[in-house]
Amino acid sequence: MGQRVVITGAAGFIGSHLAEALLDRGDSVVGIDNLSTGDAANLAHLAGRDFRFVRHDVSSYIDLGGPVDAVLHWASPASPIDYLERPIPTLKVGALGTHNALGLAKAKQATFVLASTSEVYGDPLEHPQTESYWGNVNPIGPRGVYDEAKRFAEAMTTAYRRYHGLDTKIVRIFNTYGPRMRVRDGRAVPNFIAQALRGEDLTVYGDGTQTRSFCYVSDLVDGILRLMRSDTNDPVNLGNPTETTVAGIAEQIIRLTGSSSRIVHEPLPVDDPKVRQPDIGRARKVLDWEPRVPLAEGLTETISWFRTALGGNEQRE
Ligand code: UDP
Repeated sequence: MGQRVVITGAAGFIGSHLAEALLDRGDSVVGIDNLSTGDAANLAHLAGRDFRFVRHDVSSYIDLGGPVDAVLHWASPASPIDYLERPIPTLKVGALGTHNALGLAKAKQATFVLASTSEVYGDPLEHPQTESYWGNVNPIGPRGVYDEAKRFAEAMTTAYRRYHGLDTKIVRIFNTYGPRMRVRDGRAVPNFIAQALRGEDLTVYGDGTQTRSFCYVSDLVDGILRLMRSDTNDPVNLGNPTETTVAGIAEQIIRLTGSSSRIVHEPLPVDDPKVRQPDIGRARKVLDWEPRVPLAEGLTETISWFRTALGGNEQRE
């Protein structure tokens, strides 16, 4: 018998992949989204399956009948350009939205899973980042609205576990990419792919020596499903430990698309982390998980999805 799972932010990039994976394993899924950065088109192919969509902003009380086995709280802007444009909704969904999603889980005695982020480590002074690192975050910088909202969400989730005995999980998601990222998402991989396919210059911010470690979405979703089944309540990093420079990934995308685009440099955003690489020792140990999709393979899949998205009338932007 499958579980009944609620996903907030189900119309987003990762939320929609999660919904699909849960349906594939026989679960019933209720997806909640206010479509502020999500897109109903990401869920269109789930029509006719055991999936229900509710359009709602989870920063307001969530009213849902029937039993629930798990609440996955994925709702939040997650691209720097989105949270810079929506600073207050970002803080609200991390604080009020997390409170409401925890309240729903408590009322239903459901397992709660928080989508946290490598941004809790800020511009890290420890490298690679282990879960025991407390981070280096500027609370009043432009990224503070996202970083502090997620840090608060972790604190709130932990308080519900300690005080109410709720079964809670926290996943710290590192840079993830794949099909269904928006063409105008603003993050490095979708920007570079869209620019390369259109023959435009690739905009590398700063000198491009800053690093990230990019995980393909199917690997991430596999890790989240394992975390849901596990009995660990400590935060777990999920991401791909293969670290590359931002200029390096731009060059790789130019090669893989066969584009004649060139790289141009633009100013580095304020507080842009200089390095990022997950230590996934805990995920390996407690979830027996590690990413399997090499960067070139994941990028090829993503590029092919973007070719189709851009080949249409770019409605998905
Ligand atoms: N970046 C870039 N060009 C772009 C978009 C992003 O050089 O068009 C850089 C950004 O400054 C950062 C890295 O790529 O150093 C990853 O940025 P992204 O927005 O994907 O995610 P972040 O890891 O910063 O949250």
